[in-house]
Amino acid sequence: MKVKKVMVIGAGQMGSGIAQVHAMAGIEVILHDVNEEAAERGFKMILKNLSRQVEKGRITEVDKAIIINRIERSTDLEYARDVDMVIEAAVENIEVKSSLFAELDTIARAEAILATNTSALSITEVAAATSRPEQVIGMHFMNPVPVMKLVEIIRGLATTDDVYETVVALAHRLCKTPVEVNDFPGFVSNRILMPMINEAIFTVYEGVATPEAVDEVMKRGMNHPMGPLTLADFIGLDTCLYIMETLHAGFGDDKYRPCPLLRKYVKAGWLGKKTGRGFYQY
Ligand code: NAD
Repeated sequence: MKVKKVMVIGAGQMGSGIAQVHAMAGIEVILHDVNEEAAERGFKMILKNLSRQVEKGRITEVDKAIIINRIERSTDLEYARDVDMVIEAAVENIEVKSSLFAELDTIARAEAILATNTSALSITEVAAATSRPEQVIGMHFMNPVPVMKLVEIIRGLATTDDVYETVVALAHRLCKTPVEVNDFPGFVSNRILMPMINEAIFTVYEGVATPEAVDEVMKRGMNHPMGPLTLADFIGLDTCLYIMETLHAGFGDDKYRPCPLLRKYVKAGWLGKKTGRGFYQY
């Protein structure tokens, strides 16, 4: 199947980026969120990004208008009836994702593919909420989506070769580099990245160093383009906590216990860049 129209669920930082790269590749997009305000916020993020591309001379005003015209906003899941594929990028919570997939399963066409951009949750478990587990797959984009090349492609236990190949071909059309990984907590990217971020938070929690010092050590000493705490703020501290909880529960190993300071910040609503405050102020 050649994917011509997608629905992106969740118009946050990932969903808006996912919608943008599809529209830029000539694919029709429905960008969906729980209310108009959230859908509009995601749409404005795309407008802002595209305007920056125009300023840099990468695209023209006409390109921008054509790309924007491919994106429709929605607050009604019924639009899933019209699409070849749904890519879910709502909050990192298994109950939310399972209930969305159960509902999408009753709406989307029988041949439609249901993908999730989950950071760490089980594709097999999300697929089990549907009557079409063979058409459910993980398509894990990196943040910021328009910039980062990697997409982890994760098959659930039942995902067919056809569905896998369709999604790999789609990733190539988006000018991304797909890498296949198996369905285990955190896949490859977050199984390696998140324990490092969590350890950086422990370093602050135990008074070993300030956030600025931790980030400086990792930037200057390890050549990381940004420090782990800046990166955590950028990802969203709520998302970081959910991922650590998934690793902890999934492997049953205390080396994945989330740092109490991370929990405290999330309880305070200090979620990083998206709320204006995390380890740094924005
Ligand atoms: P975000 O908080 O920026 O956005 C989430 C959006 O989903 C919000 O607009 C929210 O209103 C919407 N939403 C919540 N419940 C919904 C529902 N039931 N139906 C429709 N929309 C709903 O979060 P994000 O950073 O964009 O993360 C989204 C997903 O992508 C998560 O699963 C996350 O783990 C994953 N992810 C995040 C990153 C990252 O760096 N932030 C990277 C890769 C994957």
